[in-house]
Amino acid sequence: MKRIYLDHAATTPTAPEVAQAMLPYLSGVYGNASSLHSFGLEARTAVEEARARIASFMGAKPEEIVFTSGGTESDNFIIKGFALSRRNKGNHIITSSIEHHAVLETCKFLQGQGFSVTYLPVDENGLVNPDDVKKAITAETILISVMHGNNEIGTIEPIAEIGAVAREHGVAFHSDAVQTFGHIPIDVNDLQVDFLSVSAHKLYGPKGIGLTYVRNGMKIIPLLHGGDQERRRRASTLNIPGIVGFGRAVELAGSDMRAELSRQSVLRDRLASGLLSAVEDSRLNGHPIRRLPNNVNISFAFVEGEGLLLNLDMEGIAVSTGSACTSSSLEPSHVLAAIGLPVELAHGSLRFSLGRDTTQQDIERVLQVMPGIVYRLRAMSPLARKGATA
Ligand SMILES: *Cc1c(COP(=O)(O)O)cnc(C)c1O
Repeated sequence: MKRIYLDHAATTPTAPEVAQAMLPYLSGVYGNASSLHSFGLEARTAVEEARARIASFMGAKPEEIVFTSGGTESDNFIIKGFALSRRNKGNHIITSSIEHHAVLETCKFLQGQGFSVTYLPVDENGLVNPDDVKKAITAETILISVMHGNNEIGTIEPIAEIGAVAREHGVAFHSDAVQTFGHIPIDVNDLQVDFLSVSAHKLYGPKGIGLTYVRNGMKIIPLLHGGDQERRRRASTLNIPGIVGFGRAVELAGSDMRAELSRQSVLRDRLASGLLSAVEDSRLNGHPIRRLPNNVNISFAFVEGEGLLLNLDMEGIAVSTGSACTSSSLEPSHVLAAIGLPVELAHGSLRFSLGRDTTQQDIERVLQVMPGIVYRLRAMSPLARKGATA
C-alpha cells in the first residue's frame, strides 16, 4: 500500500537535493565559520552564500538575516528580545488569538514579567481586522505580532495592511511566516514587517534550522549570550550543514513556488469540495479564498477527530486533528475556538496539508476512503443521531 502523507504543515520531507547539498558539510567540510584559517573560510563562504540567497528571496539584505534553530526560537527571540530592549519605552504587546503556541506562550511568559498583552479576536474565517489592531494601540504599545498564514486553518492574514497601521503609529511589527515562506511570495518591504520568523523544515529543508529577519536599525536583545556570531545577535557555533540545506531549499522553492502554488491550490479545492459533497454535516474551516495553497481543514459533525485520524492511518493516509492543542491534550484547538466553532465540531476536525509530492491520485484515494470512515464511525457513535441514519 502506498502511504500518503498529508501533514506537510507539521513538517515536510527533506528534498533529496537538500540532503545532497548538505552531505559534504556533514563530513569533509567541518570548519568553524568563526575560525580565521582556510577551514573556517570554507564554512564561512558556504554560510554567506546561503544567507545572500535567502535574503534576496525575501527582498532583504544579508545582514538582516539571523540564523536560529527554527521557528520557535525565532518567535521567542523577537518577542522577548524586542520587548526587553524596549522595556523603558512601553510594556504593551498586541497579537492575535490564533497564533502558534511559540508566540502565545512567549506572550504569556512576558505577561508574568510585567508586560501587558492584547489578544485580538478574529472573524469566522480567521481574519484579523487591521482596524482592530489600530484601535488596540496605546502609548505603551511597543510590538505587534500577527502571523502570516495560520498553521491550522490556513487563513492568510492581511499583513501588509497591519504593517501599514504599525508604521503609521511607529510600532514595530513581527510576523510568523513559518507556514508561508517558500509557499507564497514574500517580500519584507511589501509586507511592511520589521521582523519575520521562518523555519527550514516547513519548506523541504532540514529540521533544527530557521531564521529571523531583523530590519536594519531594529535593536534586539539576544536570547543566547556567548560568542559574537551573527553580529552578536545569537551566540553559538553556526549549524553549517543546516544553513547550506536551508539555502538549497530556498533555491528549490524559488524555482517551483509559483507552479506549485497553482498546482496545489487545484488539488486543495478538489479535496475540499469532494469531501464537503461526499460527507453530510461537514464544513470547511478557515477563509474560503485567502488561504494557504496546501491547507484543507474540515469539521465532520458527530465524530471524534482522533478516531478519523487513526482510521485514515490504517489506510496509510497521514493527517492531523484540529481538535487538540497537542496530541496529549483534550482541550479543543484555540484556533477553532477563536473562529467560533462549537466544541463538538472542533473535536471532529481534521487538517489535510498537501505538498510537492501530493498527486491527483492521492486526493482521489482520500475521497474514496473518507466517507466510509466517517459514516462507519457515526454509526457507532452515540453523538450521531443524524449521521447514523445517513
Ligand atoms: C511549525 C511552526 C512553528 C515552529 O517552528 P519550528 O521550526 O518547528 O520550531 C512556528 N510557527 C508556525 C506557524 C509553525 O507552523
